Amino acid sequence: MATERIRQITASNETLLSFLPIWEENRHQPDIADFAFGNPQEMVVEGFASALASATTARDKGHYAYKFSEEESRRTVANHLTEWRGQRFEPEDIAMTPGAFGAIAVALDTLVDVGEEVVYSDPSWFFYRSMILSTGATPISVPVRGDDYDLDLERLAAAITEKTRLVIVNTPHNPTGRIYPPATLEGLGAVLSDASDRFGAPIYLLSDEPYSKLVFSDAQFTSPARYYPQTLIAYSYAKILLTPGQRIGWLAWTPQMPNRESLRADVFMAQIAGGWLFPSAIMQYSLAQLDELSIDLVELERKRDLLVAELGGAGYDLQSPEGTFYLWVRSPDPNDVAFVEMLAKQGVLVLPGTTCASPGHFRISLTGTAEMIERSLPVFQTAMSSKAG
Ligand code: PMP
Repeated sequence: MATERIRQITASNETLLSFLPIWEENRHQPDIADFAFGNPQEMVVEGFASALASATTARDKGHYAYKFSEEESRRTVANHLTEWRGQRFEPEDIAMTPGAFGAIAVALDTLVDVGEEVVYSDPSWFFYRSMILSTGATPISVPVRGDDYDLDLERLAAAITEKTRLVIVNTPHNPTGRIYPPATLEGLGAVLSDASDRFGAPIYLLSDEPYSKLVFSDAQFTSPARYYPQTLIAYSYAKILLTPGQRIGWLAWTPQMPNRESLRADVFMAQIAGGWLFPSAIMQYSLAQLDELSIDLVELERKRDLLVAELGGAGYDLQSPEGTFYLWVRSPDPNDVAFVEMLAKQGVLVLPGTTCASPGHFRISLTGTAEMIERSLPVFQTAMSSKAG
């Protein structure tokens, strides 16, 4: 029944689709330790519900009218970004979207034609491939460096052809937790400038940064936008607030973006044609208040430190993440899907690395509670000794 496009997308999500029933079957068990996805396992941050509630009161007859990127939201984001990033952003260069999902869809739809290529790195967030296929473009992925998970600029440069229209970079990176250093980003800017000159057409960079506020105290975040003017940034509030069920985010670019007046108009059209990809009235009217809130980053770092120490001590091969709320771990069993199923039977849910196009690994979400972590430690230890033995 479905289109060829949807059949292709379904096939490329095979591992994720076969993991979902395992997750669904186990996640409501009373003693489950659910680290599978970036979902909240505790009550929402204080102030979130009251911010939304106060935005429900209609201020005028247009309160619940069709919403575009509202002036007030754009100004809030532009001011915040200018202060945060030390780069100027203008309200007209902010498109309000339903999360980073919406921002990525709009960027793809605006910039990439059917048959053109989009390059990104693996391991990766599991839906880039699907979203690229959904626009009729061709996904081209290159592995990150094996030793430190940094971008492999040589392989990236080699993957760019005259059909490449967009490169997607995700920092802080899901699933490895890596934050790309300024030297890498500068190199990336040079690679993209060279390739754009060589092929006589701009190659755009989509910097997917939903975790840019989830940076641990021993790390620093720099946006690739600092090093390449043709960068669009995608952001979501769902990570810092841990509220992925209430959709709001944005797509933004700096005044250095060439032809930005026409980009504004093109993005606006893509938002409409893509299925009204604007956040709801309530999310936009509560944005200024939401902007002040955050999950407990000190507690998140405590969880990271505990798990990194305990899993490392038990013999797991992992690097401490610099940002995001994920740990990326080498699976003691090269068959990560089998290893994850074995953990699930013992009450611990983690995501198989194959879903991120990186077999032989698994991902732990630090959104699990401290109690879940305590309960999971003996399971991780036993699982390692049974594989090592
Ligand atoms: N990009 C990355 C790298 C992500 O991890 C996610 C969410 N897991 C998204 C985009 C989409 O974010 P949202 O659901 O908040 O739109």
